[in-house]
Amino acid sequence: MNASATDFFGMPISGRYDDPLLEQLARDTFALFPHCCVCGQHIDAFEQADVRVHVQRVVHRGGCPGPRTIERIMPPERPGG
Ligand SMILES: [Zn+2]
Repeated sequence: MNASATDFFGMPISGRYDDPLLEQLARDTFALFPHCCVCGQHIDAFEQADVRVHVQRVVHRGGCPGPRTIERIMPPERPGG
C-alpha cells in the first residue's frame, strides 16, 4: 500500500473525495468528461485529474501542463458585453 498525500497530512485535502460514493462519482464524471475545463486538453488518466464533483468540472491536477496543439479556440465570454 502506498501512502497517499491524504495519509501524510492525516486529513482530507480540501476538494478531495474521501467518500467511496464520491470517488465513484468522480470516476464516472472523469469517464464522461475526460477533458480539462481550464485548458481543454484531454487528461490521460484519472489519477492525473482533479475532479470537482460539486461543480461537475474536471481540471488538471496540480495545474495545466501548458499549451500543446490547439485544435480550436473558444472565444472568451465577455460578461456585460
Ligand atoms: Zn488543464
